[in-house]
Amino acid sequence: MPNAANPVPDQPSFPMNVSVPEARAMLLALLPQPEAETVTVSEAAGRFLANDLAALVSHPSATESALDGIACREADTLGAAPLSPVRLKVLGESRAGVPYTGLVGAGECVRIYTGAPIPAGTDAICPVEQLADAGTDAVQLLRPASSGDVRPEGGDFAKGEVVLHAGLRLTPSRLALAVSLGHARVSVRRRLRVALLSTGDEVREPGSVLEPGQVYDSNRYGLAAMIREAGAEVLDLGHAPDSPERLAELIDGAGGADVLITSGGVSMGKYDFMRDLLLSQGRVSFWKVRLRPGGPALLGGWRGLPVFGLPGNPVSSLVVFQVIVRPALTGEPPFTLRLRAATPFRALSDKTAYWRGTIEGGTVSDYGKQGSGVLRSLSDAGALVIVPEGEPVEVGDEVEVMLF
Ligand code: AMP
Ligand code: MG
Repeated sequence: MPNAANPVPDQPSFPMNVSVPEARAMLLALLPQPEAETVTVSEAAGRFLANDLAALVSHPSATESALDGIACREADTLGAAPLSPVRLKVLGESRAGVPYTGLVGAGECVRIYTGAPIPAGTDAICPVEQLADAGTDAVQLLRPASSGDVRPEGGDFAKGEVVLHAGLRLTPSRLALAVSLGHARVSVRRRLRVALLSTGDEVREPGSVLEPGQVYDSNRYGLAAMIREAGAEVLDLGHAPDSPERLAELIDGAGGADVLITSGGVSMGKYDFMRDLLLSQGRVSFWKVRLRPGGPALLGGWRGLPVFGLPGNPVSSLVVFQVIVRPALTGEPPFTLRLRAATPFRALSDKTAYWRGTIEGGTVSDYGKQGSGVLRSLSDAGALVIVPEGEPVEVGDEVEVMLF
């Protein structure tokens, strides 16, 4: 039964020590699906598509040249070589936006520029580098023209084809693609509103003077940047002291948020009031995840608001956000790659380890300082090496790595 110093029940009604995939799935299940809204493509950057996007036009919109050179009939040019160039008559030019409208016959060509439609009668391009001048109305080809330098109409996508799927995030390249499909406005999900609160009597605002034992509120600033990078909106609730009353007051200020993310106060200590508050007056969905750093993470609720409690240790809070919270906010599984280990990585018997690693020359090595408080390890190392429970990594083994 709960005691005054530590109200964690002996036999909790919620799961303890869940796996990383379980933690992600449980958070995802508590997040609402934000409603769709139609916005201009400029406003859609970083948002999530609510509908499939089909091509309203074909691209290329006409069969066109991939190069600067001449357009002609491939069959006329098959024997062309530096010592036996092929001479063609130049009829005119086709440039991007101003096509040549006549018909090109045998022994004839048209000067052409990248992106210009190829004239009727032609099927191949000879690049300008392979041409020798032969007066104003003729050229010599030093090698055969190639149909490979012709971009066929609709070769990239054809009108009517579904090219971008609902749920995808409009990254810069996808946004550019949406525009090239012909869309000026798109239907996207409203940004998730993420309330953010840091806790701890020792935690101070940047710019203030620190007393010994105090620490700057690096988590709240790092997490706010990560929330925005994940395509969500931050509702900054500021910082709470280690007082259950003050915590409750500040959390009540999260009106309109879809989820609250907190930093600190969820571990085993007497002053970990975030955990106590949810246990005694809110709801707990799970406590502790089988990962390091970040084991004490907690999922719960406060008067209908889902709450994800990150541990206060700076590495733990950012790593748990990246590994569990971000995939739930974006719907995207974490991007990982496989690299060879240049150093061994130790395994933990009952937790997946996310060790900081340094990538160099296609291999990854142990960064060394793996303490949960060593924030510069994340910034210096650049990668998290995922070591499954009980499976140590030897030099030369392949490991799964997440860029950070
Ligand atoms: P806690 O999870 O509250 O027990 O905090 C664990 C450790 O993380 C302590 O050393 C705290 O000083 C530190 N810490 C807690 N909150 C923050 C924060 N917002 N920014 C930087 N460090 C923090
Ligand atoms: Mg604390």
